Amino acid sequence: MLKVHSRCDLSCDHCYVYQHADQTWRGRPVRMPPATVRAAARRIAEHAREHKLPVVHVVLHGGEPLLLGAAGLREVLAELRTAITPWTRLDLRMQTNGVLLDEELCRLFVEYDVKVGVSFDGDRVANDRHRVFAHGGSSHEHVRRALALLRRPEHRASYAGILCTIDVRNDPDRVYEALLAEDPPRVDLLLPHATWDHPPQRPGPDPTPYADWLGRIHRRWVDDGRPMSIRMFEALHPGGGGTEAFGLAPADVLVIEADGSWEQVDSLKTAYHGAAGTGFDVFEHSVDEAARHPAVAVRQDGADGLCATCRACPVLDRCGGGLYAHRWRTGSGFDNPSVYCADLLRLIETVDAYPPPAPPASAEWSATSPVEEVLDDLATGHGSPSTLTLLAATQLSITRALLASCRDRSGTTAAWELLVHLDRAAPEAVRAVLEHPFVRPGLVHRLDPWALPGVRAAVDPLPALAIAAALRAGIPAVLRVPVRADAITLPTLGSLVLPGLGESAEVTVRPGGFQVRAGSVERTVLLDPLAPPPAGWLPTRDVPVPAGRLLVEDGDPYRDCYGQPVTSRLDGPAARALGRTLAEAWRVVHRDVPAHAAALDGGLRAVVPLAPDPARPLRSATARHAFGAVAVTPHPDPETVAVLLVHEWQHAKLGAVLDLYDLVEPNQGTRIRVPWRPDPRPPEGVLQGVYAHLAVTQVWQSRAATDPGDASAHAARYLAWTRDGADALLASRSLTEAGERFVGQLRHALEETRVGSR
Ligand code: SF4
Ligand code: SF4
Repeated sequence: MLKVHSRCDLSCDHCYVYQHADQTWRGRPVRMPPATVRAAARRIAEHAREHKLPVVHVVLHGGEPLLLGAAGLREVLAELRTAITPWTRLDLRMQTNGVLLDEELCRLFVEYDVKVGVSFDGDRVANDRHRVFAHGGSSHEHVRRALALLRRPEHRASYAGILCTIDVRNDPDRVYEALLAEDPPRVDLLLPHATWDHPPQRPGPDPTPYADWLGRIHRRWVDDGRPMSIRMFEALHPGGGGTEAFGLAPADVLVIEADGSWEQVDSLKTAYHGAAGTGFDVFEHSVDEAARHPAVAVRQDGADGLCATCRACPVLDRCGGGLYAHRWRTGSGFDNPSVYCADLLRLIETVDAYPPPAPPASAEWSATSPVEEVLDDLATGHGSPSTLTLLAATQLSITRALLASCRDRSGTTAAWELLVHLDRAAPEAVRAVLEHPFVRPGLVHRLDPWALPGVRAAVDPLPALAIAAALRAGIPAVLRVPVRADAITLPTLGSLVLPGLGESAEVTVRPGGFQVRAGSVERTVLLDPLAPPPAGWLPTRDVPVPAGRLLVEDGDPYRDCYGQPVTSRLDGPAARALGRTLAEAWRVVHRDVPAHAAALDGGLRAVVPLAPDPARPLRSATARHAFGAVAVTPHPDPETVAVLLVHEWQHAKLGAVLDLYDLVEPNQGTRIRVPWRPDPRPPEGVLQGVYAHLAVTQVWQSRAATDPGDASAHAARYLAWTRDGADALLASRSLTEAGERFVGQLRHALEETRVGSR
């Protein structure tokens, strides 16, 4: 943590820098001098080099770092990148109050890949309770403006999240809603700094007000489907991994003050004057020397560094004695439980008593699997079934987060409440609906009508989702559902087309079906697969494939998210013919490339028929928001369709990976020439092409074993395209470190493929 500016433009009364026991800031330079920045950068680089560290995190901090101005910050960032990047990956971050943030600074942070966290305590009442200017004026609107700037698509990559210091006098629901409204990637909830000498405020008789206040937010967060990451709750869940404030992991933070002093974590300033000092500085002492200071070393000892009470505590491994500074008491020093001990114990009980719905089996796997494992596995060309399960699970959690964001756009909470109820009573039914590939496009469209190609009326998607889940669960329910073009579409089940319904209709779920009513129009639909569908009910149709059933999706209004014309509902013979071709094509994939077939089995749920175009009879497509589906022109030849399925499924998998990891450096104007297109392509497009062509190469090489003629020629062409594309990508320097690893491994897989084909 680098204290680049030691003064602040706010005057928060809960600030540990200026308002607590330590007052060392008074003797420090206002700005960190350039020579000190240089020395600090050299020390960090030296440490990374000697210990071969894969990554170093540097947080620009203060006071208020933005007081350095754009030019001053640019100098600091350039110095850090120049000195450290040759030796390790530099993860640059900043913690700011946001007051001075403007577009120029946002552009600078995007340019230098700085992730910015903003201190913000919630709604206006909560924020202005402490976070005010010296004249007492509110900072609330200033900070909200800063958060809005960071949310913009062009700056979003630099939005790290919100740091919120809690006060139990604030309304937890309002604070939660204010935080959620800012759409932060992550929220850090901080207990106000306190010690046994200066205990926290406990208004009223409640012995654990902090646990109860946080417990209320935890419940909202779980009920909402965990729409944002809240680090405290994630850390407190069993196996959550801990943070600086929880758990037994060794402390791994050192502070470099504006005068170059090495210090311990800032929060110690709350204990006593000079508590964070080490007596070392960056000019004379290395990181290792600072880390060997006894007060730092004791925090590497896990449970052995804690007091006897904590060592005997049943939640020791999850609480870890709380934040080090909160243990301070004159006389016994830090050899005490946290001053928040009772609250921490109660909070852990509260978190345990209201767990999130059971995660998919893959979540445990994902928690222990590093990024490299996932990328290396996918770079084989196909990816293992467990990686596919992981990608599907993460796609589902994105859909859940969008669902929670859409809740606030609903005029009524009835659909949301029904979904929350069903998620507890019949989670498999809700899951089956939310996994439908065209749910996410519907939610995205609701949040941003211009985000998708095609023009559709904007309707609230939640009621139809809730009714579809209730029908699948067989649980009675009644909701008003919006009507679009005389139709109500229930994802995964079908559409009811009934003129005269108007803009919305009351839908009642009954045993075996549902009833729709709008004015004098009424229709009952029984979902009996053996009986002919009632007039106006157009059920979805599927075909058996090795993995289960594949939907031929020609009814969902969001299936046009591919930017290409789709067919209207196919008649019976055409739908059956397409289904037969798809099922046969799937078997062909199993015959040619079983590993790719296993990846198809792991995630492909629907195929959308594209409208025929005589000029381009063979087309296919994938949409980033519609994981689990691909679009193809109906084609009678299963051998041809098999190649299309493999090709498009590669795009779907890579799209899901790109939702998780940055493989391409953001905001570049780079264009790369590739052999399969006449026009130069952006790096992400080339990456997609390379990944798809790798799989197609593998298909043709397999076929070449029995058909050396055309198949060998196809294999050679795709092999050359993939190799040239991968080499061009690696040479372009447009990939992140993870991207370079991925393409490097993929290149390796290609060599293996080539050797295997000889
Ligand atoms: S913005 Fe941060 S550094 Fe500034 S006074 Fe408030 S808490 Fe302290
Ligand atoms: S709950 Fe209390 S006793 Fe238990 S580890 Fe935490 S601070 Fe120590």
